[in-house]
Amino acid sequence: MIKVDPIKVTVWNECRHEKEDADVQEVYPETIGGCIVDNLKPYGFDLTLSTLDDPQQGWPDALIESTEVAIWWGHRYHDELSDALIDKLQARVLAGMGLIVLHSGHHAKLFKRLMGTSCNLSWREAEGGERERVWCLKPSHPIAYNIPPYLELPQSEMYGEPFDIPEPDELIFNSWYQGGEVLRSGCTFQRGRGRIFFFAPGHETFPIYRDEHIIQILANAIAWAHQPHQSGWNLGNWGRPIPLEEGAPKQTYYKKPRKLMLAEKAEKVKK
Ligand code: ZN
Repeated sequence: MIKVDPIKVTVWNECRHEKEDADVQEVYPETIGGCIVDNLKPYGFDLTLSTLDDPQQGWPDALIESTEVAIWWGHRYHDELSDALIDKLQARVLAGMGLIVLHSGHHAKLFKRLMGTSCNLSWREAEGGERERVWCLKPSHPIAYNIPPYLELPQSEMYGEPFDIPEPDELIFNSWYQGGEVLRSGCTFQRGRGRIFFFAPGHETFPIYRDEHIIQILANAIAWAHQPHQSGWNLGNWGRPIPLEEGAPKQTYYKKPRKLMLAEKAEKVKK
């Protein structure tokens, strides 16, 4: 019998609103990340919670390496994350780590890096929120498992089009807001070996991560984004001077990397 280990999920939460804003503390006394972790526990994932104020901004090398799917909630302090860390996380996504980017994470450095666009959208934080209706466009997609044709969030922040992202691989959810705007609110992307899901609902002052359907969508997305992490082998730049077919043209010269050529040139000049 094949034993399947639980998926290693890291929930990374900026976790500054929870320290700075009384209204957020009231909605999420256990923090946003804490609420997501608590609600995902029954699904049997191997969950780790980390935050911006933890050592290495919540991403020590060993955790980057072991994480199979990362959930990302950030908002006010995207710019604090070091570019060196974003380089490592981007490489890990390209090597196969799943990434689920929530709500204001549309402006996270890592997400913008992976998308290559501004990821700007339109927004409105109406007093007390406004109704959001999330329509499921692909009921047979794994991320939509057990999700009704639409769900309603009584209080939400409006995130509307135009949303400056590349064309998604798949559009799973589309949101309509009480004010009349619409958004591609559940989108998938593949980058290298990594699967990415952006999911818009989740403003910090509304209890959206207490909604059972929202949690079900996150659990589905984890299962979808997960790929068994074995060697972590990347999509390398693969020199193949000898072709497979006999008699086919081969590459007979070895083109030295430019850096090496320049170093040799410098060495000659010295002599
Ligand atoms: Zn928000």
